[in-house]
Amino acid sequence: MDDLTRKQFLAASGATAGALWAANAMGVPGFGSPDQAMAAGKAFDPVVPPGDPTLPQIADKLMHNNWYIPVEPLAEDEIRVSFMGTAFVPRIAQAANSVFIEVGSGQSFVFDLGMGTLTKYQAMGVPYTRMQHLFITHLHADHMSDLTALYCFGPPHGRVTPMHVYGPSGPKLNGAVYDKEGTEAFCEALYAMCAWHREAFSFLPTDLKPTTENPNPGGGYDIVAHEFDYRAEGADAIAYQDDDVTITHFPAAHDRDGSVSYKLEFKGQSVVFSGDTKPTTWLPKYSKGVDVLIHEMALTPQTWVEHQSDLYPGDDGYSTNLAGSMEVQANSHTPEKGFGQIMAKCEPRLGVITHCHFNQDCFIPAMDAVRKQYDGPLAWAIDGMVINLRPGQDIKQRMSLMPDFAWDLMIAQYSSDELEPAKYKGPFAQYSDYTMEHIPAEWKKWPADNAE
Ligand SMILES: [Zn+2]
Ligand SMILES: [Zn+2]
Repeated sequence: MDDLTRKQFLAASGATAGALWAANAMGVPGFGSPDQAMAAGKAFDPVVPPGDPTLPQIADKLMHNNWYIPVEPLAEDEIRVSFMGTAFVPRIAQAANSVFIEVGSGQSFVFDLGMGTLTKYQAMGVPYTRMQHLFITHLHADHMSDLTALYCFGPPHGRVTPMHVYGPSGPKLNGAVYDKEGTEAFCEALYAMCAWHREAFSFLPTDLKPTTENPNPGGGYDIVAHEFDYRAEGADAIAYQDDDVTITHFPAAHDRDGSVSYKLEFKGQSVVFSGDTKPTTWLPKYSKGVDVLIHEMALTPQTWVEHQSDLYPGDDGYSTNLAGSMEVQANSHTPEKGFGQIMAKCEPRLGVITHCHFNQDCFIPAMDAVRKQYDGPLAWAIDGMVINLRPGQDIKQRMSLMPDFAWDLMIAQYSSDELEPAKYKGPFAQYSDYTMEHIPAEWKKWPADNAE
């Protein structure tokens, strides 16, 4: 590199040079002062000279400090919160809503599973067998659509015990009970809807055999609905409990009765996920002082009209479109100012915006509106954001590495003698004579001798 080129390169890479000099100032062996290093032509050599045994350790520490690399082990008292979907109209960068929470004692919990979120689980190395307990805040499609695929493809991916879906009852509106709208009715309908898929995949073993310890394990294609009264709160409102984790719920106000928020507690730490809601008094009642408060936020109706319709004040049609957008927000969601007020009341260790389109031109106006109400710790969730928390330690916030071409992980946990035999034996058990007549004899041998 001649001098001119080196100067140009320096001007274009101040950050790199700065990092190098900072490393020298800290006494990394092998270099003298930055000037001496430059004079020796080593300015752009690795920060740590080749052969230095500290390089792998430094690189490993820096990488894990800056990025989440699936899948890191958790400490016994640690919680990891991964954002698998952070919008509601799915797009490449942001799938619809889902939050995945893992705890150091090994359990994992899915909160909502909207459109497109399964791809993010896959990219972050979460097999379907770790998505067995699903907590649904409400039955809008952007919170439950991917349940179909998870249910259907769970058993072929090794989930041979039931899928557990926890969620609210249908509305109880001024004396009328809408019991066909609750989680139980939804699960019955999901089961019925997937009949062809279920039968078609039953050439594989999908059920555990009963044992004396576990006489009724249920099958991979069973769904267990855990429906609770959406109006319950406080001590009455435990959705799930084991030796380590308690998940409670309280009502949310969203479009139509039958939405809830969840609170997960583990070893003295807590995470609240609002689901979709207008600002309510329930939220601060159950979220005051939580560690992480994940709350929905809606951009202004004007922002939506400008982006969706390219209409601005004074344009024909602007007021009509704005009225529709305002109606959505008035019925359903928390505006930026309301989000800030909720955070100010709750004072979490970390507040998180979700269910919100993240765009450069929206970010600063939205944050300005929030910051007029709340000046505490705050993050705006996008897909792949990961939060780690442990008692007495700073909350760690990183982005995950997410490969575009991740394979679906599958680990067969049971041997064939632990499983019930497949319902349909052999490759052609589900084919009629009509179809069989159209598969020539030599093709019926495949794939056994595919290589011939
Ligand atoms: Zn939603
Ligand atoms: Zn909703």
